[in-house]
Amino acid sequence: MEKDYYNRLGVNKNATQEEIKKAFRKAALKYHPDKNPEGKKEAEEKFKEINEAYAVLSDPEKRSIYDKYGYEGLRGQYGGSQFDDFISSIFKNFGFFDDIFGGFAQSHSKKGTDIQIDITMDLEEVFNGTEKEITIKRTVPCEKCNGSGAATPSDITTCAHCNGTGKIRRQQFFFTVSQTCPYCNGTGKIITKKCSNCKGNGYIIQKEKIEIKIESGIDNGAILLYKGKGNIVDPEYPAGDLYIVTYIKEDPIFKRDGMNLYVELPIPFTSAMFGDKLELDYFDQKKLTVNIPPKTSNGDILKLRGYGIPKGGYRGDLIIQMKLITPKRMNKTQEAVLKKFHKLTKDNYDILNKLKKVLKKRFKK
Ligand SMILES: [Zn+2]
Ligand SMILES: [Zn+2]
Repeated sequence: MEKDYYNRLGVNKNATQEEIKKAFRKAALKYHPDKNPEGKKEAEEKFKEINEAYAVLSDPEKRSIYDKYGYEGLRGQYGGSQFDDFISSIFKNFGFFDDIFGGFAQSHSKKGTDIQIDITMDLEEVFNGTEKEITIKRTVPCEKCNGSGAATPSDITTCAHCNGTGKIRRQQFFFTVSQTCPYCNGTGKIITKKCSNCKGNGYIIQKEKIEIKIESGIDNGAILLYKGKGNIVDPEYPAGDLYIVTYIKEDPIFKRDGMNLYVELPIPFTSAMFGDKLELDYFDQKKLTVNIPPKTSNGDILKLRGYGIPKGGYRGDLIIQMKLITPKRMNKTQEAVLKKFHKLTKDNYDILNKLKKVLKKRFKK
């Protein structure tokens, strides 16, 4: 099987190392799988082919064998399976990637990290929507040293271990691959006098106030995304994002179910009997009038359609469950009237009479 490595990179056989490197960068950027979300598989295949071609042509020894004997000659020279191992290792080795891409392979990790903030809201805020000012702490480049970490520009020297390249080379298989220099962490620079503001980090943690607007009807656990409000870890790359997670406190009176609200409403038994109009303090700060129909029993449900939580132009329902209360205190007149009422209705309680009969039967046994 013949492979035309020159053709893959779009260079001629006399291309210099610099031309090969340039052609490779261009092609690799074009066919990087992350840059081709559509047709990812195809791009991936192409990307591998380009990498393989570059791995061979960028190495003078391999290139000359390839020029004389072709691909099969190369495999023969290095032992077939070892050569295959080398080819597959290209795609796993980030040190190698980093070297040829000049940091491209790391581009994803240099995007700033995300920040998560939890906020607590009460039901009234859910009902009416709210605006809040929150304070976040985010990492940003130090202004004093422009992110360099050095007191002055002359306090930055070239790392002697990697000669400023940020890479040190090591042998893998029969190839030299590069690794991030551990002495300068890949920056290629050593700081002799640190910036006093950021203590040499190049970054500071800054407090920032952010106005957030929350629409009515937000759910418990909902996540609001503020793009670009996260940490910056490299000024050349985008900031991370800010996620705000909403937690909604339980209300002591109203229970929530989606856009509906439930409430248990204590009413005097006379209101239940004769019907009544009661006023309820409600979330939109208006009094809500509840019409209690006559002959209401304990536990009866009154559904007020469209009085629940507003959300996106719609409103849920308010569901009121009646709870009859017995007066704890009465004056003499009230008591006399009720006693009279009691006496008048006593014999009319059919249910009570039926119950008496059942009990009589049971206890005779
Ligand atoms: Zn170094
Ligand atoms: Zn600084």
